[in-house]
Amino acid sequence: MIEISQEVQYLLNRLEQNGYEAYLVGGCVRDALLGRVPQDWDLCTSASPAQTAACFLDQRISLAGFRHGTVGVLLGGHPYEITTYRAEKGYTDGRHPDKVNFVSDLKQDLARRDFTVNAMAYHPRRGLVDPWRGQADLEQGLLRCVGDPFLRFSEDALRILRGMRFASTYSFEIEENTARAAVHCRRRLEQISAERVQAELSRFLTGSMAGQVLSRFWPVFAAVLPECGEDPVVWEQTAARLSRAKADLTVRLAVLLSGVPQGVAALERLRFGKKLSEDVRTLVAKAKGHPFTDITAKQLLREMGEPMARCWVDYRFAMDGEENRYREWRLTLERTLREGQCYSLRQLAIGGRELMSLGYTGPQVGACLEHLLDRVIRGKTENTAPALLEQANRQKSGGSTISSQ
Ligand code: ATP
Ligand code: MG
Repeated sequence: MIEISQEVQYLLNRLEQNGYEAYLVGGCVRDALLGRVPQDWDLCTSASPAQTAACFLDQRISLAGFRHGTVGVLLGGHPYEITTYRAEKGYTDGRHPDKVNFVSDLKQDLARRDFTVNAMAYHPRRGLVDPWRGQADLEQGLLRCVGDPFLRFSEDALRILRGMRFASTYSFEIEENTARAAVHCRRRLEQISAERVQAELSRFLTGSMAGQVLSRFWPVFAAVLPECGEDPVVWEQTAARLSRAKADLTVRLAVLLSGVPQGVAALERLRFGKKLSEDVRTLVAKAKGHPFTDITAKQLLREMGEPMARCWVDYRFAMDGEENRYREWRLTLERTLREGQCYSLRQLAIGGRELMSLGYTGPQVGACLEHLLDRVIRGKTENTAPALLEQANRQKSGGSTISSQ
């Protein structure tokens, strides 16, 4: 039994009252059977896209996916997707079906879906429709292609990465034949657009089993990340590091690409955003120094800000695996933050205005503030207005060069 919201019930009813079949399908059925809260509820129907749209003329609808058979209905601020039963034929280019055929049979629609656990439909009165035995696979935690995996991965290689993603995020085992086909067909991933690879790779990386899946399937990842090379020893080491890394995309990308000369270029090639690429570059580029003191912690915070400083410690732990050391580092960092120790210009007891009243002008102001912050971080000057002003004065009269004493 799957619990269904009023909105979903309304969508099903409306289609049925108009003489069409309608079912919940795909990810939401899988997740509901697993006891997880589905991200979104997708429906499939025997109604054509135009017929579906006609059923919901009194609602806000989206026709963006109309050509592919999908009508979006906005209910209670949430978008629901209703897709006409489809069969896809002839993927000559390995990514797009040559032709989308709308069909009247639910079973045909389920047959075109990627994995058995994703190929189930559910109706509150008619129950589960599961011709590919997805429920049994779900109970065993097995990810298995619908039909011949070599054929299915040749049709659309993105399914290989989707498989890696589901294995990583749901801890599914990949069924033996499906696993063999994934590795065998991996080169076809070269035909998949950067955006689609990026989306699946991101979700794969933040899954709880990313390290384990990478260890077994690294050739698949080498196919989408040729920059990382093909050395099994290197991939094995990366997999072990990933297993230790916090489930954060920035940290895990840094682990994946650390030591890869073209690593950041790879991120740009795969259309990861500018900010993310920059953050990954920052984590990888920062050398570690010992020991990790309050001063080091504050310097780190000054350099990269609070969230990234935490990421860097997580990244270092993943790379080096010295649990005790990095627990200490983390504690030092958190204590520094908790105590409100000064590490940023914002926290400095004086600002540019005070310096200008001492006669500082132009770029001198910023330079002096940075220098004062440096002294405060290193404990050379107290973070109070009188102490800072005195120091600023001394520097001014001591000439224009800023000493680092
Ligand atoms: P989630 O939304 O939780 O990431 P999902 O399984 O719902 O997982 P979607 O991308 O939303 O994934 O796809 C919805 C359904 O469409 C899938 O469950 C599957 O049945 C089918 N599907 C998606 N992509 C493919 C594909 N490349 N090949 C075959 N079927 C697919
Ligand atoms: Mg979905």
